[in-house]
Amino acid sequence: MSVEVVQENVGFLLEGPHWDDVTNTLLYVDIVGNTIYRYDPSSGQSKSVNIGETVGAAVPTASGRTLASGASRVGFVDWESGDFETVASLDLPPFTRFNDSKCDPVGRYWTGTMGYEVTASGAELPAKTKRGCLYRLDGGNKLSTHVQNVTISNGLAWTADHSTMYYIDSFSFAVDAFDYDIKTGDISNRRRVITIPESAGFPDGMCIDSEDMLWVAVFGAGSVNRYNPRTGELLRTVNLPVTIITSCCWGGAGLDELYVTTAKVSLTEEQLKTQDKAGSLFRVTGLGVKGVKGQPYQDA
Ligand code: CA
Repeated sequence: MSVEVVQENVGFLLEGPHWDDVTNTLLYVDIVGNTIYRYDPSSGQSKSVNIGETVGAAVPTASGRTLASGASRVGFVDWESGDFETVASLDLPPFTRFNDSKCDPVGRYWTGTMGYEVTASGAELPAKTKRGCLYRLDGGNKLSTHVQNVTISNGLAWTADHSTMYYIDSFSFAVDAFDYDIKTGDISNRRRVITIPESAGFPDGMCIDSEDMLWVAVFGAGSVNRYNPRTGELLRTVNLPVTIITSCCWGGAGLDELYVTTAKVSLTEEQLKTQDKAGSLFRVTGLGVKGVKGQPYQDA
């Protein structure tokens, strides 16, 4: 197994990696840097677009556009101008913004919100208040609400048979499962399937592999953990040289490379000195596991 930095010191809060298998590039964001990136492994370079507000996540669409969650709205981003064409917007409570988002296996866009606080120095930190929700966009211009009273809406994943959706509300220190109706996109029968000890940090983004095992980025613990959601068992821990691990996804032509986003957020000056790769994009290879491809938004 090998852990490498592929884009060094990109930003403050990297998040939302999504492998676009049409262009063989990786979309990811710096949420508080207001920027969407597209990393091209063949050139080693990232293109970027600043949208002028926080960006929780961005995904490609079936027609070749980019759908993103801005601070309180969802819409299409123009990579040349940075213009944001709003599809749906919400009247969110103060200190609440969009966060992690992902499409289901038929291209419905699930996007969640989180509460945050601003420190005296101006840094944004996650809040434990339950101001967040989880919403869904089905191709029209309406966001429907599906989960309420969420602290930080984060990781999403679906099983290969589409029968189950996994979900992380970070300050529950757990992964929950829902029964998933792929015909309607409706969720039901919420139950806890994995618990994560609070001392290890909190679960953030996640992805699923071809064996329906979950890979969970643990914020504060410096690791991505592989779990069996059917038993709750921790199967494997992949350590990285930084502690704030935010999310992960499968990429590469064989979907056998794990891209991992990291952050500087919540690190002290002292910690930053010993973690000079915090805020970089990493790639882990040689895991011997194959992933599942990310879904584009069905906009056409
Ligand atoms: Ca996150």
